[in-house]
Amino acid sequence: MQLINPANGQVFREVDEDTTETISEKIHHLKRVQEEWAAVPVKERLGIISTFGKLVKAQRETLAQWLTQETGKPIQQARNEVTGAHNRIAHLQKHAEKWLAEELLEKEGSTQELIRYEPLGVIANISAWNFPYNIGYNVFLYALVAGNAVAYKPSEHALLTGFGFKSLLEEAGLPKGLFEVIVGKGEVGETLLKADIDGCFFTGSYATGKKIATQLAGRMIPLQLELGGKDPLYVMEDVRDIKQAAKNAAEGAFYNNGQSCCAVERIYVHASIYEEFLDQFLEEVRSYTLGDPLDETTFIGPLTRKDQPSFLFGQVKDALEKGATLHCGGKIPNRPGFYFEPAVLSEVNHEMELMREESFGPIIGIQRVEGDKEAAKLMADTNYGLTAAVFSQDKNRALQLLDRLNVGTVYWNCCDRVSPNLPWSGRKQSGVGSTLSYQGIRVFTQPKAYQLREG
Ligand code: NDP
Repeated sequence: MQLINPANGQVFREVDEDTTETISEKIHHLKRVQEEWAAVPVKERLGIISTFGKLVKAQRETLAQWLTQETGKPIQQARNEVTGAHNRIAHLQKHAEKWLAEELLEKEGSTQELIRYEPLGVIANISAWNFPYNIGYNVFLYALVAGNAVAYKPSEHALLTGFGFKSLLEEAGLPKGLFEVIVGKGEVGETLLKADIDGCFFTGSYATGKKIATQLAGRMIPLQLELGGKDPLYVMEDVRDIKQAAKNAAEGAFYNNGQSCCAVERIYVHASIYEEFLDQFLEEVRSYTLGDPLDETTFIGPLTRKDQPSFLFGQVKDALEKGATLHCGGKIPNRPGFYFEPAVLSEVNHEMELMREESFGPIIGIQRVEGDKEAAKLMADTNYGLTAAVFSQDKNRALQLLDRLNVGTVYWNCCDRVSPNLPWSGRKQSGVGSTLSYQGIRVFTQPKAYQLREG
């Protein structure tokens, strides 16, 4: 398999893919080591994870450089991402022992009723490339602390992250063979799912998630899917500071080149402030520097996937044919690599692909609305259900709208953020199940009910 640098389109490394045989050997080994790991006290498991966090901190620059080389993520954003391990580890240290502890629910006379949380076994963790560190941490750190073994299949576009995780986890003291990297493209992922796994935790697109759900139907193992989004943001006319709102919305749309599952993908603005918001938004986007992702000043690097610039160009073309106005960008610049100039379109509507299909790139449509009723209707007009945001001074008015939306996360005066304290989950085509929070550790366990009576 060839690893390609999206900043210049050049192959920088070649690696051997796993085969059915090597996958089967790795799973066999994971099973054996997991049985021993399940007997290790949670405190000890946390100690190893904590050492892993320290090693990540020490290796931050190398890990960030790999990420930039593989995905084209601007180096500053790559450094930020690598450090995402720390709040997750702190969260686990604070809560994991109590959330995994035995629960005594009833004790009456000689009878006891209690629950124990057993690990699932070997987890297949199939991951995406856009935030490979963070979405990796969300699964494997929690799975390991809960007593599982992990077969981690990184995306072909973020393979080095997998090698980094394995080597640092083992350096931190994780038993050898408890975390294995499965190397290969989609077909290798498919082969992994045929192996003797005890659960599958997938992050990626709806299309692949649906294939995996179909493939695993009948296996009777837990399956969790964290999928795509078409996340809306509505700016009410009472926002305190239109310039600040525009700046925050633009960052939510364009951070990581728009390649975030919870990126702002469509914006609705109250008609009375529409023109001013649009001007401020354009000023912000025009200030972004497009360039080499290793350059410290770059905010917009190349896209990760080779085909994505032409996909985005298609969305611009479709919107323009249907009456949209393009204010900036929208072109594929004449330079090596997979670049796309950040595009802002107004006078958009839901007839356009741009407002309906996940773009996953530096492109945004801004639509004028007459009030909350119209905004709520448009925000709900999607097959996805990951996040939704409202900017307003009026919390009650914002929550009235957000409460009614069928999404996993709502934001008031913020967007595009994830916290380890809160469950991260999608609804409808954005997925099934939660990572992070209390749910995000319990999900790697299976409860066993104990009904005990002194004889
Ligand atoms: P893909 O669905 O293309 O791939 C995800 C993973 O699945 C990759 O490792 C891929 O391998 C693998 N894969 C592909 N086909 C199969 C198959 N048939 N069986 C098993 N595994 C397979 O998604 P992307 O990597 O392109 O990620 C982008 C998507 O992920 C976006 O839709 C984004 O919104 C979503 N996402 C959701 C998040 C959430 O928390 N809800 C977080 C981050 C991203 P390979 O890449 O090597 O082909």
